[in-house]
Amino acid sequence: MSLPVGNPALAPFGTTIFATMSALAMEHGAINLGQGFPDTDGPSDVLDAAVAAIRGGRNQYPPGPGVPELLAAIAAHQRRFYGIELDPAQEILVTVGATEAIAATILALVQPGDEVVTFEPYYDSYAASIALAGGVRRTSVLRFPDFAVDEASLRAAFSERTRLVLLNTPHNPTGKVFTRAELDLVCALAREHDAWVVTDEVYEHLIFDGVEHVPVSTLPGMWDRTLTISSAGKTFSTTGWKVGWVSGPADAVAAVRAVKQFLTYVGSGPFQPAVATGLGLGDEVYAALASSLQAKRDLLCEGLASAGLPVSRPAGTYFVIADAAALGATDAMEFCHWLPGAAGVVGVPVSVFHDDAEAGRTLVRFAFCKRDEVLVEAVRRLAQLRPA
Ligand code: PMP
Ligand code: GLN
Repeated sequence: MSLPVGNPALAPFGTTIFATMSALAMEHGAINLGQGFPDTDGPSDVLDAAVAAIRGGRNQYPPGPGVPELLAAIAAHQRRFYGIELDPAQEILVTVGATEAIAATILALVQPGDEVVTFEPYYDSYAASIALAGGVRRTSVLRFPDFAVDEASLRAAFSERTRLVLLNTPHNPTGKVFTRAELDLVCALAREHDAWVVTDEVYEHLIFDGVEHVPVSTLPGMWDRTLTISSAGKTFSTTGWKVGWVSGPADAVAAVRAVKQFLTYVGSGPFQPAVATGLGLGDEVYAALASSLQAKRDLLCEGLASAGLPVSRPAGTYFVIADAAALGATDAMEFCHWLPGAAGVVGVPVSVFHDDAEAGRTLVRFAFCKRDEVLVEAVRRLAQLRPA
């Protein structure tokens, strides 16, 4: 007899696609444009501040809500970039990456049977966190190549059981930045159904072509029903540090804190003051990050197009989606398992981020947060696959 193991709620999910694809990259010695992480370090002031914090003895449990200088730095950042006024003591909680913020927020707000509206393709942890809370996922499809919001399908995803909307802008995996009109529609529906909006803004500074990031909490009537999530991982190229945060009305943040204290209690001690240093860096540091990534976006998009792959040009994030049907793909998952051996390049099948399997059937996500020479070589390899 064997004892049953595993949480049945997680049975559909298996191993994350990022772990699978990074393992394939290692196995084949392939260029990893799968999992989104930069291959260079971020600002040296931020790295030096972490070394100083470790050497300065900040190696024990930090306070539950986060270290005071990070809470103050997050408040100052929200004021500087968006004019949002936060009480650092009550309206901000530091988490172990945005991933924990997402899980703790959903566990705090969603009861079994509650419905959560989100767009697909969606970031993988959304579906798993909703399932862990016993919630029911209701999605609206964003379709290649423009990924525009379809109002009818979004309206249809709402019901009297809708408890929250989980939004992500700039959006992973599509690179889409929601327009003001699209945000207004989401907010109007959330108000109509008296639902929370949880907004994942981890790519807030990875935005191109002069497009502006609009935090949902700044839209009319939204502060009281919005929890905003972000992370230091993308902004400072420190994805391994796992420093994230959630901000919003004090009672909702307290509810998230109540969950978080039993997930990790606290985390990332010496990295918290280092992220505070990062958040205080000048506007030019943020601008340089965006312009460097924009150039990489251009390099990869043009390269993929010249390799014969139609792409959706992203306005933000680390990612571009290409349609591999042009290279004969009929199933993105199969194609992405074949690609590392055939071409020495790894991408991520967008189909795994969909409930509607047809919508992402031949789409592949490639990350461009890599050194230029790596992107050039990846494109050279992909170009060799082009049918004669
Ligand atoms: N949300 C989105 C949309 C992401 O792409 C990621 C992955 N980096 C996360 C959340 C998780 O962020 P973190 O690494 O800070 O946990
Ligand atoms: N956010 C990163 C991506 O989308 C990966 C995060 C992870 O490995 N869970 O590629």
